[in-house]
This record gives sequence, C-alpha cells and structure tokens, in this order.
Amino acid sequence: MECREEWNADWTDQTVQHGFQNRVRSDRRRSRSSPLLASLAWTFLLIGVLAACVNGSTTPVDPYIRYRPAMLGNAWPGNGTLASMPRYDLTVDIDAGLDILTGTAYIALTNTSPDPWTYIIFRLYPALEQYGGLFSIQSAAIDGQAVPFSYLDENTAVRVELPVALLSGKETTIYLSWTLDIPQWQDTPLAYRLFGHSQQMLSLPLFYPSLAVYQPGPTAGVGQWWLERGSVRGDAAFNVSSLFVVTVTLPSDQTPVTSGTLISSTVAGSERSRHVWVTGPVREFVLHSSNRFQSATTTAYKTRITSYWLPGNEASGRAALQYTAAALRVYSDLFGPYGYSDLRVAAAPLGFRGMEYPQTFLLGVQLYDAHRADLEIRTVHEAAHQWWYQLVHNDPVNTPWMDEGLAEYSSKLYYEAMRGRSFAENLQARRWQAVIDLLAARDEDAPLNQPVDAYANGTQYESVVYGKGALFYDAIRQALGKRQFEAFLKSYLKDYRFQIVTPSDLLAELRTYDLQAANSLYQKWIGPLP
Ligand SMILES: [Zn+2]
Repeated sequence: MECREEWNADWTDQTVQHGFQNRVRSDRRRSRSSPLLASLAWTFLLIGVLAACVNGSTTPVDPYIRYRPAMLGNAWPGNGTLASMPRYDLTVDIDAGLDILTGTAYIALTNTSPDPWTYIIFRLYPALEQYGGLFSIQSAAIDGQAVPFSYLDENTAVRVELPVALLSGKETTIYLSWTLDIPQWQDTPLAYRLFGHSQQMLSLPLFYPSLAVYQPGPTAGVGQWWLERGSVRGDAAFNVSSLFVVTVTLPSDQTPVTSGTLISSTVAGSERSRHVWVTGPVREFVLHSSNRFQSATTTAYKTRITSYWLPGNEASGRAALQYTAAALRVYSDLFGPYGYSDLRVAAAPLGFRGMEYPQTFLLGVQLYDAHRADLEIRTVHEAAHQWWYQLVHNDPVNTPWMDEGLAEYSSKLYYEAMRGRSFAENLQARRWQAVIDLLAARDEDAPLNQPVDAYANGTQYESVVYGKGALFYDAIRQALGKRQFEAFLKSYLKDYRFQIVTPSDLLAELRTYDLQAANSLYQKWIGPLP
C-alpha cells in the first residue's frame, strides 16, 4: 500500500524515472570507464525497488529524489522540512522573437496556516509597473476540472477559487496556463531593467504565477495574503521556499542562466533547444539569457560557479568569477554552507547595480567597464544575498533593511577576510558612516525599520537601508564580540534556513546571546520592544 501511494502521488511516477535518469547521468560522468557496470548496477537497483513494491514491503522511495542534483548531499534538508513546501512543475516556451512566453504549471501546495483556504492567490510579478510585462492567465484547473479565477490589484495577482476548502495541513495541486508578453526595451547601458529584453539580454524573473505568502493573523480566520507591489526602489518578490522542475524551450542561440541545476538539454525542432532544471528549496526561479554570453567556470567548496559576460568584457567577467568564488568560501565559513550545486553570476541590463536571485545573481553591464571599480563590492554584496534573502528571507517591502543591511555588512566581513581589518574598517567609515553622518547633518536621517515607500527619495532609502542597516549589524558585533557575533550569524542561519524572518525573530535570536544587549540594541536601532 505504501508503495502504491509512493508511486501514485501526483508526479512521483515522473519523479522516480527522472531521478533515476539523473543518477544514471551523473554516474556516467563519474565512471566513464565502466558504463556497462554502472548501467547494470542501476538495472539491479530498479528491479530491487520494483520487487519491493510487488512484495508489499515498505522500501521507501525518496519522493524528492528528482530535486536532489540541485544541492550538495550534506546540505539536503530532511523530508520533514520539504513536506510542506510548494512544488512547481513549469513548462514554458519562448518564441523565436523573444516576444511571448507561454507556460503551464502544476503547483502542489499545502495549507501551512491554521485557517481554511477557500481560494488561493498567486502573484503575477511581471505585471508590476516596475517590471512592465503583460501577464494573462488562460485557464485554471484542479483535478482536471476548470475552476474560476479573477485578477486582483491591477492584474498583479490572480485569485483561484477552490471547489472545496483546503484545510490546515492539506495539499492540493493547481494547474494554470498563461501567456506573458515580454517587453522589448530600446536601452543604453545606463538603463535599469529587471524584466524583459534589453541590450540583447533577456531577463525573466518570476515568469510564472507565484504562490502569494499567506500571513496568519493574531486569531483564527483573519490571516491575509501578501499583496504588496513594491516600487522601482526596492525588491518586490516575497516567497516561501519552494521546489521547482522547470522545462524551457527557447531559441538555440540563447545561453540560459538560471536558478537550480541543469538536468538535460536537447534539440527541440529547428533552431530550438529544450532545457530542464531542478532546484532545491528556493525563493523563486529566474531565467536570464543572451545569445552573446561568454563564460568561464570554477569550483569552490564543491559548488560549480559560472560567470557569464558580454564580448569585450572577459577580464571583468573572469574577475567576477574569482570574487564570487572567494565570497562563497568566506561566507560559507562565517555563516554556514552555501549548499547548492551551482552558483552563477551574469551581466545584465542593470546599469551599475546588481540583483539577487536563487543560485544566480546579475550585475549591471556598467560594472564590467565604466564602473569596474565597483565590481568587487557589488559582486560580494549580491553573493551574500544567497544567505540573506535566499536561505533566510524577509518581507522585502516592509522590512528591506533585514537582508539588505546584512548583505551589505557581509561585504565588510568579506574584505576583512581578504584584505585585513584596517581595509574593512576604512570601508565601513567611508561607505556607511560618512553617508549616514552626511544625512544627519542635512537633517534627512530616517528610521531603519520602515517600508520602502516611507523613504523620501532614493538617496535616503539607500543610505538608511544599506548604510544604517550595515551599521546596525556592526553594533551587534561590537556588543557581542567577534566570536559570539559569528556564532549568532551561524545560529540565525541554522534556525531560520528556508523560512521567513521578522524583526521579532532577529530579536529572539539575539536574546539567546545577550538579553540586555539585544533589548537595548533593538530599542535604539529598530523600535519599541515587541
Ligand atoms: Zn542587495
């Protein structure tokens, strides 16, 4: 019976086949000298699993086996951690002109709240004003039956009605199909484009309906779906950790740069290729690509790191690769393992700025030439987001300082490890303290713990959220001392890996180290004690 359930659970059938293919594939890579032995071994294993099912014994089949290539073995979380995570199975097609994306999704999700859900909300992030895409849901279904859906908040979300309420702890699978008009931007290298086709690069974060975060209320039945829309100033995407299998068919000349780990690439008709990726627990799946990318690869702590750059920028592209590898080592030592099989850094139409996604971060094209002096610090800031945003996540619209301040402060820790104490202190004085002092002198200082749109302008937002945010984490370090601070970062990561944190969670973690210091730091920098 258990075997049957394992094999029948929605996509377990594919799961096992896929998983075996993956394993055979990687096995082949490892032992090229004896392919016959490898295939014999897998044949016997397969027979063994089938025999166990026929006999009615309970040989467990790992339901998550298909996702495993995306993470290093020792970083793979237990099945208990994975059980309530949404699982996305996405299949998308991008046309020859890179104008239209069509997609289908099976999204298996569990109601992790105490409240019954009579509908589910998915965010359509590309429809945000700052993204500029046009998202159109074609159909929604559950168990093969069409279900009604309606748009919310200027088409930035879709509400899917459930035929029966989904009770706490129960799972359902929702099918959605959609089309997405990809904006084509005529830009100079100064442009900042999060979404669309610009400067021969295609950036498609969140090209699929993304389960909204449900925030339970103080009493039963009054929870809310998170529908913030953010602004061009800060990040907008807020997501629970999820597992993905993503199949993308697109023109063969495109070099894709994505989240997760590539499982297969095949020819799919004339001048078209089909790629399949899987992920471990991630906040989102990004697809970025270009027909001009050149690349180089290295390895750090068993993670494969690849850097992609545009022609003419090879020296900077290779430098970005080395900075990323160094940052992965420094941060893994200080915070805890990165844990994923791949990490990628790529040029993007982001001017001199950067943007973080799971297992991939993007650097503006100007960082590779006109703003080359900022390439290292921008690289290591974005790399730090793999811990602070990707593993430990927070509301990017209402508490942007939580990850931005810590990603920024992480760059000081990187420089301290790479260039020594005085270099790092200098960086702090110049990059954060001087900026905050200037702001205060102009009487333009603002509180750290407030939403993005509470800041008067971009300068105030960046100075406070990044600068004062970094200084807050430095104040914690001064209060706890270097060793205790490092223990704090490690336990903060361990306790909240794959979860969403609030300022109260940070306070609680800090209190386990020094109750008095935690309370006074919180009151001074963040606000009244909760
Ligand atoms: Zn950042």
